[in-house]
Amino acid sequence: MATFIVLLGPPGVGKGTQAKILSDRKGLAHISSGDLFRENIKNQTELGRLAQTFMSKGELVPDDVTIAMIKDRLSHPDCRNGAILDGFPRTPAQADALEDMLKEFSGRVDAVPQITAPMDALIERMSGRWTCRANGHSFNTKFNPPKLEGVCDYDGSELFQRDDDKVETVKRRIQVYFDQTSPLISYYREHDKLVEIDGLQSIEQVTKAILSALNV
Ligand SMILES: [Zn+2]
Repeated sequence: MATFIVLLGPPGVGKGTQAKILSDRKGLAHISSGDLFRENIKNQTELGRLAQTFMSKGELVPDDVTIAMIKDRLSHPDCRNGAILDGFPRTPAQADALEDMLKEFSGRVDAVPQITAPMDALIERMSGRWTCRANGHSFNTKFNPPKLEGVCDYDGSELFQRDDDKVETVKRRIQVYFDQTSPLISYYREHDKLVEIDGLQSIEQVTKAILSALNV
């Protein structure tokens, strides 16, 4: 029986890290919708070209295009044991579509771990990020500081703060996440699949909490 997980969590909560760990430990494919879009566009697949026509006009990619892309991805052999979905679904309508397509793979969404943390903690984490100009090495003034302030440990180049990592931008991105995701969170709560995980624990503790929520 394959295992399908929808992983939710605001920017800065460590969702990508957990997706990678879970994927390695449980042999599940990690499907990030953002990566999937980029790949399809880069490889100029039929769906990629279609998505691009909307994106180039600044329009949202319609659900049926996104859903077809996910469905195609789920048919790949690395999804045999199941998959961790990251960035999809975004809406209750997409969540319904996901349940329908999983039936074809004799599966269903098993659990929806939502890694959470208070806004202040997320801002603190994310706005502490500094990036090296030469090679993009990344540091965090609080959690992973460089040995010398403002200088990359690896190549000695200057560290700067990307616009994405500035407090105001970070705050807006987190707010947008919560606003957009709240209907989906309610949906999964009603379907009794939502499991809230405290994202302020250590990486290992978060992994443990997710695994015990899965019962797999
Ligand atoms: Zn560097």
